[in-house]
Amino acid sequence: MTRSDYPKYVGILGGGQLGRLLSLDAARLGYDVHIFCPELDCPAARVSARKTVADYDNKEALQQFAQSCGVVTYEFENVPVSAIEFVERMGTEVFPSSLALKYSQDRLTEKEYLNSIGIPTVDYQSINCSKDLESIIFKTNGILKLRRLGYDGKGQTFVSNPNELKTAWNALEEQPAILENLVDFEREISVVACRDRDGRIEAFEPSENFHEDGILRRSKVPANISEQTAILAINATRNLLESLQYVGVLALEFFVLPSGDILANEFAPRVHNSGHWTPRACNVGQFEQHIRAITVNPLISPQRYHDVEMINLLGDAVVQYTGADGYTSYGKREIKEGRKMGHVVRILQ
Ligand code: ADP
Ligand code: MG
Repeated sequence: MTRSDYPKYVGILGGGQLGRLLSLDAARLGYDVHIFCPELDCPAARVSARKTVADYDNKEALQQFAQSCGVVTYEFENVPVSAIEFVERMGTEVFPSSLALKYSQDRLTEKEYLNSIGIPTVDYQSINCSKDLESIIFKTNGILKLRRLGYDGKGQTFVSNPNELKTAWNALEEQPAILENLVDFEREISVVACRDRDGRIEAFEPSENFHEDGILRRSKVPANISEQTAILAINATRNLLESLQYVGVLALEFFVLPSGDILANEFAPRVHNSGHWTPRACNVGQFEQHIRAITVNPLISPQRYHDVEMINLLGDAVVQYTGADGYTSYGKREIKEGRKMGHVVRILQ
């Protein structure tokens, strides 16, 4: 999409905080944004030029949306692949393409894909039916995870023996799942990187991520890892972007082992919570970089000016930081326990 495509919009499927922050940076680069989401009054639509409130399977609404846009992207990974494919069929380009989304929506295909391109993951076993439970081997304690629709630790249960596994799988209504070995990691990191249509890739430095109950609480940069581990993580991310022929920003999460080796955990085909430090600490942020990649603007080679930490503000925690230096609000109307309300990026030095 070029600026001469005016009055075409940059379309975003999804209306949450990631869409909001993408939309603000698109505006800064001179693009008007059209948000498509099922919820009324969503955070992204309130800062965007145009919105469509409809379900993702509403073909008529999707068609009108696609026709109004010069390019379309998405801001959360549970947008139905069928909606992306429909927009693609309407002749409007969608970045990232539906392929990356397909793999990442299912923890089994995601891990199979990563391993197939030489990026090692944690060991896992797949569970599709109750018969599969009988052949499961417990080498370590494990985590049972739903294959689809889990996020922020939802749909995950720690299990340490076959009985607990059976109970946990029953509680997940016997939906397709995977049992992962529990990794005794030293720390967690992620790499946020971007690839443009010409194949140029720019990666931010790895951030170190601290989770509680499966939810990201804090990210710190630089991560406390060796140069060699950082290179391993960035190279794995480049490999993933290249093999998917990906366009836009992607985040790949890793477990760092005491040896310094890394195991990939999962990837998100979008801007990511662990990249929220970038606009404040660098010459370019992840949101701007994504908009640059999907339109026809050159990527910027990231340089970091500060050591920083990003703190996620969940529920009530937002009250004490409102208006603080480095605060970003997600524009949500109502505070709910555990809900991501905003974040704050503190400069450490
Ligand atoms: P989500 O999609 O909810 O982010 P993740 O698979 O990333 O799911 O799990 C969330 C967090 O739970 C991870 O960041 C990590 O802290 C912990 N976790 C997940 N899988 C494992 C594992 N196999 N071993 C140890 N910790 C894990
Ligand atoms: Mg995760």
